[in-house]
Amino acid sequence: MATTQYEIAQGDTLSRIAGKFGISLAELLAANTQIQNQDLISPGQIINVPGDAAAPAAAPASGQTVVSAAQTNLTWLEKIFDFTVEKHEIPRLNHAPYHAMDSTGIGVLHTTEGSRVIDAIDAMEHGLKAGKPSDPCHFIAGENRIVQCRPLGFQAASLRGEENQFPYVQIEMVALSKTHSWMPDDATLRPAVAIVAYCFKNLGIPLSIPNNWPDNIDDVKPFPASNNTRRTSGIWPNQKGWYMHMEVSNQQPSNHWDCGGIRRSELLQMAHDLAGD
Ligand SMILES: [Zn+2]
Repeated sequence: MATTQYEIAQGDTLSRIAGKFGISLAELLAANTQIQNQDLISPGQIINVPGDAAAPAAAPASGQTVVSAAQTNLTWLEKIFDFTVEKHEIPRLNHAPYHAMDSTGIGVLHTTEGSRVIDAIDAMEHGLKAGKPSDPCHFIAGENRIVQCRPLGFQAASLRGEENQFPYVQIEMVALSKTHSWMPDDATLRPAVAIVAYCFKNLGIPLSIPNNWPDNIDDVKPFPASNNTRRTSGIWPNQKGWYMHMEVSNQQPSNHWDCGGIRRSELLQMAHDLAGD
């Protein structure tokens, strides 16, 4: 196969580079035998990319809509199905400008590990109150309410670091994740389903599970861990759909394993029914 050269950029990982060029991590490593430790790469380093890699695979899959933030003009929503959307903005430190993004077709589901919306807001504002960056999602779902914390079309910050650039929408569900099969209470599930259905109809996030991962999480090893098998599979962020936090790469030192054994397929089916597709 032909080989091209690629200069490693800030925030790159080998699995992300592989995904960008539509090849496997193993193929990338095979073309770069000089790399002894795949965690030790640095910006500016030149690596080989096998195959016809002139055009990174960034195009959306067929049937998906890419909506630009400028086009939607919907940065703060008023209504999502039957829910009135409450605005509770959690800005960046010192009101730094938001990072704009176009739809990536990716959403991330989280749980707050609490039982109240107000506690979730407090937790996400905690850093800000201490003069540090905040870590809000776009939407909180709970108590039969939807609260929006960040404008749509801009990055939220519920993940660690650079990975926040990939999900177009991040949702915090007011719930405690469980390691066995579970679903949030209705007061959390209904607004969460409404958001997911909205994102499908309007924002190009498909009602699909990346890699068709099963709801059962027996394959996730070691569990819980920042480097579990789903996180290191190279699927994130190369397939569209709804991920859980525990499937997002590069979250060390966090071991966040939300949403555990949630029945994601049922949640997405409910969103499908609501969207009336
Ligand atoms: Zn999370």
